[in-house]
Amino acid sequence: MTSGSKTRSVAIVGAGPVGALMAVYLANRGWNVHVYETRPDMRLPENKAKIQNRSINLALSTRGLTALKGTGLALDELIMKSGLPMRGRMLHIGQEGHLISQNYGLHGECINSVDRAKLNEDLITAAEELSNVEFSFNVALKRADLDKGTLTLENKVTKEIVHAEADLIIGCDGAYSAVRNSLMRYVRMDFEQGYIPHGYCELSIPAKIGPNGEAEFAMDPEHLHIWPRHKFMMIALPNPDKSFTVTLFMPFANFEMIRNEIDLLRFFDEYFADAVELMGKDLLIKEYFKNPKGSLIMIRANPYHYKDRCIILGDAAHSMVPFYGQGMNCGFEDVRILDSLFSEYNVKSTQNGESDRSLELALEAYTNRRAKDLKAICELALYNYEEMRHGVTSRAYLWRKKVESY
Ligand code: FAD
Repeated sequence: MTSGSKTRSVAIVGAGPVGALMAVYLANRGWNVHVYETRPDMRLPENKAKIQNRSINLALSTRGLTALKGTGLALDELIMKSGLPMRGRMLHIGQEGHLISQNYGLHGECINSVDRAKLNEDLITAAEELSNVEFSFNVALKRADLDKGTLTLENKVTKEIVHAEADLIIGCDGAYSAVRNSLMRYVRMDFEQGYIPHGYCELSIPAKIGPNGEAEFAMDPEHLHIWPRHKFMMIALPNPDKSFTVTLFMPFANFEMIRNEIDLLRFFDEYFADAVELMGKDLLIKEYFKNPKGSLIMIRANPYHYKDRCIILGDAAHSMVPFYGQGMNCGFEDVRILDSLFSEYNVKSTQNGESDRSLELALEAYTNRRAKDLKAICELALYNYEEMRHGVTSRAYLWRKKVESY
């Protein structure tokens, strides 16, 4: 470090998957990193039950794996140790659940089912093992003064207000981002928020017991299973314990029509009879009435940054519906692209006085280059809902699949 220069500091708000990965990337570059997370440390056993995650497992694609690999710490390999490759989608057509398999690629390309909580925990641990990263849990950002580089946070346990400072503030604090709320006061941000009329409920298909008493998958684990039912659909992704996590997506109005066990079993017998057999009626009833019905939000923002002081990434910048399985993957890509712009603009981990505009130029380039792609992927995600719940059942589509199978 030259005399008069100081190591740059960054405050990352949110220790979700995107915030934790960003911490690793910036620590690798030599920055002093402090991550502030409103929830308790999810790795501690006493906190596991308190933390509500949006889904139990999710699909990790090449886009996300590339960003994990880019850390140079073999995080892609670490995560994939317990990841389950899905080489295609399995359609369960009609009441009797007639099966049609469709590969994702011609050369064995896969998406991977991974445990969301484990992935997040592994990334936090990987970041924490780096000497220049610190985590503060149970602290929620209230507001940030971006010109001064100050953060006002509330300790969720003691309710005390605490203050922090950083050269750069990165908002990885999800769809309801507090950093984005502050950023809006500094830039002329175009902002859009919307909900689709559909919600989701998580259910499960337990492992079945095989002839030798060992747990076995009840369906083919190399597929993402889809029950397309036009106005709604159900999907299932495999887990390492040989169970499947099942997600029912449908309009809230339909969820509200299911008031009791009789309604529920009638509905499932009509649309998902083959799944009911695998779920078991008792478990289905228990999980359906116990598990929350989550809403699906879409966020679009632009620009993503302010001078050399602040940037938002991941869901804070672009929350999308989950039907393309790309929300987190795309957030990981945000991190990789921002990092590549730091290289392109030669952003150093030390600050050498006022004349160094490299960081500002890198953040500006990020907004300019990323906006079009992010808009496109949000639209593709929405389009894919129509494709998954309806398009795949069209006569032309099924006919094509039949011809291909000869
Ligand atoms: P988040 O995961 O939302 O993390 C934000 C973090 O910030 C949280 O830890 C939160 O506690 C913290 N925080 C919030 N506010 C504050 C504050 N004020 N101060 C401090 N901390 C704060 N994506 C995929 O890529 N593949 C999939 O298969 C997939 N499936 C999905 C299925 C469902 C049902 C849903 C709803 C989403 C799915 N997604 C999927 C999308 C994915 O969940 C998100 O894109 C991803 O979680 C975004 O990560 P993030 O780190 O940006 O935000």
